[in-house]
Amino acid sequence: MCNKCNFRQVYKFESETAWKNFDLDFTKTYINELLLIKQNHLNSNSISSYDLYKCKNCDDLWAYSYPENAWRGFFLPEKLAIEYEKKLKRGDRVKGFVGLTILIVILIAIVKSCMK
Ligand SMILES: [Zn+2]
Repeated sequence: MCNKCNFRQVYKFESETAWKNFDLDFTKTYINELLLIKQNHLNSNSISSYDLYKCKNCDDLWAYSYPENAWRGFFLPEKLAIEYEKKLKRGDRVKGFVGLTILIVILIAIVKSCMK
């Protein structure tokens, strides 16, 4: 990251308005320093595809993911975006495990009550 691409890092756009405001800044100023190198890019941990940009000054990569339905999008250096998506995926797995455990407990309770 250099002084040209010292952008605000956004892990998620809290609302439609927050994103619209950001996108306005992006199309007005950020884009002057960035070069679009790949649209709808997916990395190996991707939850959602993003547009990949390169800083014209220092060649650092930036990932811009648009919010869509429950997905809140992000605008981050690509390295951070990959880490962030990995973390989100781990979070989903934990949630899935907790859900499964609760289901098993309920099933055991039902089976036990039937055997009485
Ligand atoms: Zn830069």
